[in-house]
Amino acid sequence: MADERIRAALAEATDTEQVVIGEGALGAVAEVAGAVLGDRPLVVVADATTWRVAGEQVQRRLEAAGRATEPPDVFPPDGFVLAEYGNVERVRQGLGGHDAVPVAVGSGSLNDIVKRAAHEAGRPYLAVATAASVDGYTAFGAAITKDGHKRTMTCPAPRAVVADLEVLAGAPPEMTASGYGDLLGKVTAGADWLVADALGVEPVDPRVWELAQGPLRAAVGRPEALAAGDRDALERLVEGLVLSGLAMQAHASSRPASGAEHQFSHLWEMEGLGHDRRPPLSHGFKVGMGTVAVAALYERLLDRDLAALDVEAIRRAWPGPEEAEAAVRAAHTAPGLDEAAVAETMAKHVDPDTLGWRLALLADRWPGLVDRLRDQLLPAERLRELLAAAGCPTRPSRLGLTAAAFRATYHRARMIRRRYTVLDLAAETGTLEELVGELFAPGGFFADEADGAAQ
Ligand SMILES: [Zn+2]
Repeated sequence: MADERIRAALAEATDTEQVVIGEGALGAVAEVAGAVLGDRPLVVVADATTWRVAGEQVQRRLEAAGRATEPPDVFPPDGFVLAEYGNVERVRQGLGGHDAVPVAVGSGSLNDIVKRAAHEAGRPYLAVATAASVDGYTAFGAAITKDGHKRTMTCPAPRAVVADLEVLAGAPPEMTASGYGDLLGKVTAGADWLVADALGVEPVDPRVWELAQGPLRAAVGRPEALAAGDRDALERLVEGLVLSGLAMQAHASSRPASGAEHQFSHLWEMEGLGHDRRPPLSHGFKVGMGTVAVAALYERLLDRDLAALDVEAIRRAWPGPEEAEAAVRAAHTAPGLDEAAVAETMAKHVDPDTLGWRLALLADRWPGLVDRLRDQLLPAERLRELLAAAGCPTRPSRLGLTAAAFRATYHRARMIRRRYTVLDLAAETGTLEELVGELFAPGGFFADEADGAAQ
């Protein structure tokens, strides 16, 4: 079933031709390289840790198979290799001395660095995963920080991905938990796509939807087993992550796998939340927290009758472009991020007529949309339990956020990406302020956070 799904996904994918997941998959690396690259020379790129856990073995296997290789490019063992543009330049310069195709042996950051560097050098690349920590292996684009601003830089996905379950099982447990958090985010990402679809903003592509959402329930269903080191649960997680990346590749957009929960994560990321930790606070932990936050908002929203809004009153209160821009500038003052947030927000800011039209459409579609969203979503409390069972933090304070900063994220995260999500739906129906207030009021889902009582 899983193999079939991956085969179907590869047929839709534009860059990736082969994916090998399994125990001992490293043994197939030379064969895979031959199948997708012919006899082009190769160069292994790794950091000190990933060289030890897999890179050295990859190098040996390539040599044993008679492949031409350049001396491996291993980052010096002085700390964590962050997905920063300086590291992209470093790898690209290394590639300048020969014409070998890089083989990235590592997890999310190293993969993103090599993905972009290979693209800048005009070459394809191969990915050998060392942790089930993100869905980015098979995704197009690389999340790289440049000039203090995290952005998705354009670049093709790898020609092939090799994920050896034995290697992945040996990764630190927090990395697997992080992958779980990233994958669980597809619950709310899917809900946001349904909202955008219902409002005519961005239609759902059923085939791509199935790639990301089809395997999701099975992949997130056994967090306890995953945390206990169960190989089958790990394999389901890896498949879910790989398929999610392939869905983004097929859609040439992260829409299938990224909604408001990622906007929460991206904002915290750009503001450097947890960057001073060693290891730095992971992407998946932030996405997991964002997923709970967004699901809790959906719960409040779905209790409202958005078919019975006073559209005229909402239209009258709707900010014009200058007012909207001023609100973004008040919420975002960090250099770089401020201009980016203005551009992103204004790209989706509608005029009152369009808003009126959209709210009329919403009134018409709301009952059907409520049913679809209830089918798609899980209760916020359930999501919190799942994350905890997988070993992810589930309280804002554990991420290093104050209650006030966490609460403000509901308003600020909406502004940093033009993608239409539940945050926009709440803002455009004039309910965002009130719904967030409910979440933090006594008896609300985040009442404990408002008290500052949570650990
Ligand atoms: Zn993600």
